[in-house]
Amino acid sequence: MLSRLCKPYLLASSGSCEFWICTDCRTITMNLGSITLRLQEEHFKNIADTMQIAIHQFMHYKTSHTPCPEFAASNEQHKPN
Ligand SMILES: [Zn+2]
Repeated sequence: MLSRLCKPYLLASSGSCEFWICTDCRTITMNLGSITLRLQEEHFKNIADTMQIAIHQFMHYKTSHTPCPEFAASNEQHKPN
């Protein structure tokens, strides 16, 4: 939740998620059902950028069942354990 002093402004919403920004402290709040994440602007942008890559890779896998060569090199460095 935003603090009581925050001034939330809805950025976007869909059936399963909402994004709010506080017009005062600029904290981004991400509501995913029962999960709420409060993020600083830089962290929010980094998650959005990473999600774009993940969606690109997801679509690539769905159609070709191989990783997209465009992102293969960067993913090699960040394989999950
Ligand atoms: Zn605030």
